[in-house]
Amino acid sequence: MGPIGVFGGTFDPVHYGHLRTAFEMLQALRFHEVRFMPCGDPPHRGKTYANAALRLEMVEQAIAGQPGFVADDRELQRAGPSYSVDTLTALREEIQQRPLALMIGMDAFLGLPNWHRWREILKLAHIVIAHRPGWRAPDMGLLGEMLAEHGTHRIDDLHEAEAGHIYIHDVTQLEISSTEIRELIAGGRDPIFLMPDAVRNVIRESGCYAAGSEDRAV
Ligand code: ATP
Repeated sequence: MGPIGVFGGTFDPVHYGHLRTAFEMLQALRFHEVRFMPCGDPPHRGKTYANAALRLEMVEQAIAGQPGFVADDRELQRAGPSYSVDTLTALREEIQQRPLALMIGMDAFLGLPNWHRWREILKLAHIVIAHRPGWRAPDMGLLGEMLAEHGTHRIDDLHEAEAGHIYIHDVTQLEISSTEIRELIAGGRDPIFLMPDAVRNVIRESGCYAAGSEDRAV
């Protein structure tokens, strides 16, 4: 049984950049499954635009029927900030020695030293990084050193150890971001072809990103 991938994010809203990245990693890295995990109260950023229930619903709609894709709402159930280290600790207890991989974009990896107890993450999971347009891998500083020490080019390392490796994966570069999608919708334009239609429908019916929608909520 292959590693379990954990793909966290605000998913405000989820889009094809997330979905295609997760799918390519699932296949190429031979993961058993990818768990999409919307975060509740993101510690590093401001409040979200769509509330937690809507962000989860958009993820569920986006992945419905896709083998290997699972929605995991544990961070939404927990009160207080969503720290990855706590989520991975809980998952590690559940899955015992099975390999676990935290999946993040290069932009998110560059912010890792700001995460709560970030040095413990590699003891709990591998880190699998997706190249993202405009972001380069660090070659110096704390993260550069971490990459030199823990980086691997062997996919088998992600299967043979339960945690501790960093792997950078080239995914199809889709320059889509949730921020641009929200701006587009607030400007009265249609996010068609940037996300599944089922997600567009949730956005249209809830009006969550419409101009003047002030119900910013966690
Ligand atoms: P925002 O624009 O609000 O910051 P986002 O589009 O970056 O949102 P997040 O929910 O913050 O989406 O991202 C969750 C994870 O997905 C992060 O690790 C991020 O790096 C990654 N990610 C987001 N968009 C892409 C993309 N187009 N290609 C690859 N990875 C992505």
